[in-house]
Amino acid sequence: MLSMRGIHKSFGALGVLKGIDLSLARGEVLAIIGSSGSGKSTLLRCINKLETIDCGDITINGERLCWTKDGERAATYASNADVRRILMSTGMVFQQFNLFPHMTVIENLIEAPCHVKGQTRDEILPYARELLAKVGLSDRENYYPSQLSGGQQQRVAIARALAMKPDIMLFDEPTSALDPELTGEVLRTMRALAAERMTMIVVTHEMAFAREAATHVIFMENGVIVEQGAPTEFFSAPKEERTKEFLRNML
Ligand code: ADP
Ligand code: MG
Repeated sequence: MLSMRGIHKSFGALGVLKGIDLSLARGEVLAIIGSSGSGKSTLLRCINKLETIDCGDITINGERLCWTKDGERAATYASNADVRRILMSTGMVFQQFNLFPHMTVIENLIEAPCHVKGQTRDEILPYARELLAKVGLSDRENYYPSQLSGGQQQRVAIARALAMKPDIMLFDEPTSALDPELTGEVLRTMRALAAERMTMIVVTHEMAFAREAATHVIFMENGVIVEQGAPTEFFSAPKEERTKEFLRNML
């Protein structure tokens, strides 16, 4: 579903990703953990081209988003039309919800399928309602984001991303902006998605979620993957000293 090879990304003189390799098969849930500034958001943003990479290869759903030829140091991207099509198979959920504030909940869900995929309102409405039911917000269809709690807004944001029928969902610290009592409802929604075998990458500080819902965990520091593995081994018997220290501080 996703393969990243030799990903490098700098902001000016600051190297942020220094040779990242990872791959994800359909139905896998990858949790990415690591201290603030380690490059987690940048990695996620490179997958859907919110940031461009300097060099490396990214393949999504069997299609090459970008690649670097042997002996070259710069990545070439697919044509704009191909990039748009390839990225339709990804959906992203941000820390700060990012809903359209002037649109109701249901309009937020309908917007992208209408404008990007050219579906009519009537075509998308039943599925949008199905998604709202799935995230437990059927009764909030005509509310505006400002009339919802943070947890409800984040569940709308998840439903909105799902409305495009992505093959892979990217979550960047989806519960970090929420009060602790609202975190659970968002994590429950994400666990339900994982149980349905949605392919997901989740950047998170929620260690219990990573341990229980992920199929694979990556620990990043300073733009490199320090350690990775299945959650049971990763959390019960981390090998690297840096991982042990990070996990000690998280508990
Ligand atoms: P994380 O999500 O792990 O906290 P980020 O990927 O957000 O880390 O950031 C990694 C590093 O890159 C940080 O030092 C951050 O300040 C820097 N950075 C991120 N985005 C930009 C940007 N657009 N311009 C310059 N520096 C950036
Ligand atoms: Mg981040």
